[in-house]
Amino acid sequence: MAAPAAVAEARTRDAALDRIKTVVGPKGWIEGADAMRPYTEDWRGLYKGKARLVVKPATTEEVAGVVAICHEFGIPIVPQGGNTSLCGGSTPEDDGTAIILSLGRMHRVRNLDPANYTITVEAGCVLADVQNRAADADRYFPLSLAAEGSCMIGGNLSTNAGGTNVLKYGNARELVLGLEVVLPDGRIWNGLRGLRKDNTGYDLKQLFLGAEGTLGIITAAVLKLFPKPTDVRSAFCAVPDVASAVTLLGRARAESGDAVETFEFMPRLVVDLVLKHFPDTHDPIQTRYDQYVLLELVSTSSGESDLAAKLESILESAFEDGLVLDAAISQSEAQRQDFWKLRENASEAQKLEGASIKHDVSVPVSRIAEFYAAALKKVMAVDKTVRLVAFGHVGDGNLHYNLQAPEGSDGKAFLAQWERFNRVVHDTVVEMGGSISAEHGIGRLKREELAHYKDGVSLDLMRTVKAAIDPKGILNPGKVL
Ligand SMILES: Cc1cc2nc3c(=O)[nH]c(=O)nc-3n(C[C@H](O)[C@H](O)[C@H](O)COP(=O)(O)OP(=O)(O)OC[C@H]3O[C@@H](n4cnc5c(N)ncnc54)[C@H](O)[C@@H]3O)c2cc1C
Repeated sequence: MAAPAAVAEARTRDAALDRIKTVVGPKGWIEGADAMRPYTEDWRGLYKGKARLVVKPATTEEVAGVVAICHEFGIPIVPQGGNTSLCGGSTPEDDGTAIILSLGRMHRVRNLDPANYTITVEAGCVLADVQNRAADADRYFPLSLAAEGSCMIGGNLSTNAGGTNVLKYGNARELVLGLEVVLPDGRIWNGLRGLRKDNTGYDLKQLFLGAEGTLGIITAAVLKLFPKPTDVRSAFCAVPDVASAVTLLGRARAESGDAVETFEFMPRLVVDLVLKHFPDTHDPIQTRYDQYVLLELVSTSSGESDLAAKLESILESAFEDGLVLDAAISQSEAQRQDFWKLRENASEAQKLEGASIKHDVSVPVSRIAEFYAAALKKVMAVDKTVRLVAFGHVGDGNLHYNLQAPEGSDGKAFLAQWERFNRVVHDTVVEMGGSISAEHGIGRLKREELAHYKDGVSLDLMRTVKAAIDPKGILNPGKVL
């Protein structure tokens, strides 16, 4: 028989959950392990947690009401958007004490101000929908990543997402003018201003951008818009090596008037994996080469565009100098999309291929080639049979330096080596002045790595901020710190 204290605690907890259900109404909650599974397990299937309840508030006031109850009763909260986190940030721990607070029902566009080049959206808006709403108003929201059909703005901002257009427009953090946030005690902070100039003290929104749900729940944001591109030209280029890719990037930026929007690197193995797992994909260049870049120039000028001529001239001179071995230039939007399918299905193809160990890292662009080679040497010293699947946003110094299990091998045994590989790859990153998490965040996956590599003063400051804003530690416990 349960002890009286445990019975009383369970009753209090049930009463708190009943109050939460009342705040969000019958459409606003889900319970039962099976029904909650899409929320308790992560995209990669690496983290399978447990939750008491999934709560789906429809308004900021409902979020605030739920959080106030959790604050009163000390109930942990895991904020969740599209649940596409690649580092276990959006799923609960195994102890089953937390509720998941999904923002999926908060998907209103509150305002679109074309003259101010801003859009105000709720946290549960799917990224692709925000892009489309901006385009309908002849504007451009440039944040773009392969998960854009399911990830949500609140998640994008909480992870300070990067993606394919960082080179030209910056990370998610740089695309935000204002935020509305529910604080861990249930108060609402209204910082929803659409100002490009506002020097009235600390820039509070920065605390919540990239905080991975550990300091507050983002409920809405004012996002920056840009002129809509009028012309886009893409080339899928075979390059002799990583160093040539970096030289090509520098030249393309200078010679195009800084019109390079995207510069993505892919080794042959990525192309092979995508072709193998996605029947609807094609090799743009018939001859096989060891590595490729997807280079895209964009123009927003009205009138006749000279982008096609610019791209051709860049590639011609690069070809003459041996920086490019072969190239396909897209002749239609459909062909451009074919190039993109190779890049955008890279993560999914890796998942379908089996076990892999991911390293989302960055180094200064000028040291990418050096990093690539040095890390490879060390990885091979650990295990020669590993397949290197290093691809990504080389234009901003970010490589997904992923290691795929050898074909037909035991995935579990391979994943058991995760820490050994982490050490060699991350040590190399740090030696080169880089970051062990370029764009995916820390979540649970890199919590120990952060503690290992981050300097003591930074960790102290981070813990001080967390304790000041969330003294009860109820927001996304066990993540980041
Ligand atoms: C195929 C694929 C490709 C990807 N490509 C990229 C890429 O190119 N660049 C990149 O940066 N990432 C990429 N990711 C990772 C992921 O898509 C991003 O991190 C995305 O920004 C997460 O958004 P989400 O809505 O799914 O957030 P979730 O996964 O639900 O949550 C992510 C984190 O944010 C917190 N959170 C979510 N919503 C809120 C909120 N409203 N308030 C406070 N905290 C919140 C969660 O607690 C969690 O810690 C990719 C993922 C996949 C599956």
